[in-house]
Amino acid sequence: MAERADNVPVRSDFSLLIDGELRSSSTSLEVINPATGSVFATCPKAGDAELDEAVRAARAAFTEWRSTSYEERRVLIGQLADVLRANQDWLAELLTTEQGKPLSQSVAEIDRGAAQSEGMATIEIPVETLIDNEQSNIELHYRPLGVVGIITPWNAPVNLALGPLVSALYTGNTAVLKPSPYTPLTTLKLGELLNDVFPAGVINVLAGGDELGQAMTEHPDIDKISFTGSVATGKKVLASAAATLKRVTLELGGNDPAIILDDADPQAIAKKIFFASFVNSGQVCMAIKRIYAHESLYDELCEALVAEAKNAKVGSGLDPETQLGPIQNKMQYEKVLDILEDTKDAGARILVGGDVPDGPGYFIPPTLVTDVDETSRIVTEEQFGPVVPILKYSDLEDAIARANDTRYGLSGSVWTSDPERGRAIAARLEVGTAWVNQHRATSAFVPFGGAKESGYGRQYSAIGLKGYMEPEVISVAK
Ligand code: NAD
Repeated sequence: MAERADNVPVRSDFSLLIDGELRSSSTSLEVINPATGSVFATCPKAGDAELDEAVRAARAAFTEWRSTSYEERRVLIGQLADVLRANQDWLAELLTTEQGKPLSQSVAEIDRGAAQSEGMATIEIPVETLIDNEQSNIELHYRPLGVVGIITPWNAPVNLALGPLVSALYTGNTAVLKPSPYTPLTTLKLGELLNDVFPAGVINVLAGGDELGQAMTEHPDIDKISFTGSVATGKKVLASAAATLKRVTLELGGNDPAIILDDADPQAIAKKIFFASFVNSGQVCMAIKRIYAHESLYDELCEALVAEAKNAKVGSGLDPETQLGPIQNKMQYEKVLDILEDTKDAGARILVGGDVPDGPGYFIPPTLVTDVDETSRIVTEEQFGPVVPILKYSDLEDAIARANDTRYGLSGSVWTSDPERGRAIAARLEVGTAWVNQHRATSAFVPFGGAKESGYGRQYSAIGLKGYMEPEVISVAK
């Protein structure tokens, strides 16, 4: 085992998975523990040659895999879920060490990945009869696309890999999976574990940098890209995929509004709103990123949220007391600090937080800001960190207009003591998912994805699964 200069042993027990073989490579990636800011592991880094091999393997495996039945694939996906649960403890510890989130949330991420996988594999994709009359019988069949390239971000590496991976496999496709270079390790271990479940070549896992992601989008023998990440990269993926007319699902960033109506009870909702904003230290695509509160309860809500922030324990995710871990990487840490500075410069008032401790680690305490200029970066950009504005409104129409005044459209929520009133207002949010009295609730049976620039297509449910399939009309004259 290699050692760093400060004598911390560096793990290197990681491999790529290509065609059923665990492989090393000539170059490697260094992985940093965000709670310490130090390298704690290295892993092999794939380049163009490994990508070509992985795509060839996936293409070769597709011939047999596509002819297996849904039932056969469902059985293997059940085994995938079993393997996740059997290895949950050490996988969760590795996930926390590379990603930063509290251990209990890593355990929950793996648990949820297993449950979502099993859920997706119960969804039926039947042949649909469109017309059946004296002249003809016309059916709609769905067939797999081929090789799916899956590209994931660093905020929830296990969940965001399993959603597209299980969608691809269950619908009869094979896969090449590339995690973020910031968090490749748990995904590589997942590949190792799943190699004992699936036939060689069905799943291939390559760690690599942004250039490997780009090469996947350009590869002529990949049929579909499932990408989860930022809006800016999503646009590059779509443009690049156009050259080969790849099918594309894009799960992108959000700037989710929560509208608190005048009839809500601030004490009853503060905890839910706090954690929907700050879980994973705000590094969640569908976290609440702007809170619009009616003037009649604004002060009381601010007070209740400040109390939650003061109670939240920030620290290393490996400490069982920790509720909020560090920012996952230095680039994102500096971006959030930059937005915080910009917010202060624009004259906003910091209600709680704002003082960033000296290192080591990329820690920012939960920070709530008010008296914010609506055109400042904290309102218009996706902060993706633990700094959240609370904005006052007096007229509900104005609040809805401000909530919708963005190119983002991932999700949003309405908080009220009258759920039917909430439903009517939720329906006016320009988003993929609008919740009432909750935020961040998703399911294998419910489509998730973004409106506007927050996405393209959906993940989960029959709608999501059909995004991994080509509809084919079979039209028979009678
Ligand atoms: P990112 O776009 O920087 O990177 C995501 C992945 O894309 C990484 O694996 C990266 O290596 C790869 N990549 C980079 N450049 C590429 C290119 N030109 N072509 C192909 N691949 C390329 O995103 P990030 O910083 O890792 O993740 C944070 C973002 O992800 C946030 O905006 C967040 O909201 C979003 N996100 C969205 C969802 C969702 O379901 N909608 C879920 C989680 C995160």
